[in-house]
Amino acid sequence: MSFDSRALRRQFPLFTRQPALHYLDNAATAQLPQVVLDALIAHETGRRANVARGAYPLAEEATEAYALARERVRRFLNAASVAEVVFTSGTTASINFFAHGFGARLGAGDEILVSEAEHHSNFVPWQQLAERSGARLRLLPLAADGRIDAARIEQFVSARLKLVAITHCSNVTGALTDLAAVVRAAHAVGARVMVDGAQAAQHGAPDVQALGVDAYAFSGHKCFGPNAIGVLWVRAELLETLPPVFAGGGMVGHVSLAKTTYAEPPARFEAGTPPIAQAVGLGAALEWMASLCWPEIRAHEERLGRCLLDALAAMPDVRILGPREMRERLPIVAFAVDGVHPHDLTQVLGDYGVCLRGGHHCAQPLHAAFGLEASARASLALYNDDADIDALLAGLDRARTMLR
Ligand code: PLP
Repeated sequence: MSFDSRALRRQFPLFTRQPALHYLDNAATAQLPQVVLDALIAHETGRRANVARGAYPLAEEATEAYALARERVRRFLNAASVAEVVFTSGTTASINFFAHGFGARLGAGDEILVSEAEHHSNFVPWQQLAERSGARLRLLPLAADGRIDAARIEQFVSARLKLVAITHCSNVTGALTDLAAVVRAAHAVGARVMVDGAQAAQHGAPDVQALGVDAYAFSGHKCFGPNAIGVLWVRAELLETLPPVFAGGGMVGHVSLAKTTYAEPPARFEAGTPPIAQAVGLGAALEWMASLCWPEIRAHEERLGRCLLDALAAMPDVRILGPREMRERLPIVAFAVDGVHPHDLTQVLGDYGVCLRGGHHCAQPLHAAFGLEASARASLALYNDDADIDALLAGLDRARTMLR
């Protein structure tokens, strides 16, 4: 299928809303195409039952639908096996899960490396792990343009380093991390690499085998899928060694009064009734993404991102956070306007139908590194077009006049 942003936009019921919305908060959550809504309704109305429990046909159909969703995630990630795909409630849950599972083996003398650019979801779990395990949390600094300075990782690798937990793409600057450099340096000392893919996954399927990472986390709602579903992918050879974090139904082999044995992965890591319809919806969203022409989408997103960056760069009172070149980032653009608080700015823009986020975007250490408390952020997705950028720029002019 070839790319046509208007045709694509028509697949999203939200965009029939009047007056029209300029939705530029896709880094917070993406909209749902009709095909995903249809899949959710079809499942909940025609196949709703618990999974991996009942033997009657309805339960078997639900179990098959859940298994198909896992296979679709496997294909999206190009993972080697469905056994490596654990469903969670989102990126935050995936990272916390990994921090508890992998973290169980860490202790004093071990080191965990994160960057200063992380979302709180990939920072606080490691800070907590360091506090409870005695491991040392180290921080990979930023380069002058706000990118993670992956070239400096060599200064942090030693036999003590056990894990690098790093974002694929910053949710503030849109900057892409040089994961190849991170993986090379970490693996040279036997350390593992866990990647926060919350932002990158929306902009094209990450190939976990090509990336060479050990674990990858992402959320359904940022990939045109439902809320309350996410994925933790962990390389089989590592996942098999992790202890289960949650215990209960569905994750056991056999339970006796004296002892419990566990099921094989991924069931071992999915205690209790899973988010079944949400997984089915995510599977539909990833299949929909797979049906699109990504080179054209990337070119479209890159062109729009460049338009926005160029227009903002031409404004003397605007400071763009992060790299200026689109080849180093995804179309997530945070900026600060002199003398205008981002909350006020985004409120005024909201009154004009332009949906932008203002705040610290759950990245306070990164904002502190920029000497800011907050910023405004426009994050583009495949259905955005020139009219959205024009509306943002016009709104910015009006807001500036009103707020000063
Ligand atoms: N990591 C990054 C980079 C994010 O942008 C986000 C959400 O914005 C998260 C983690 C957390 O994702 P969720 O709220 O879906 O768990």
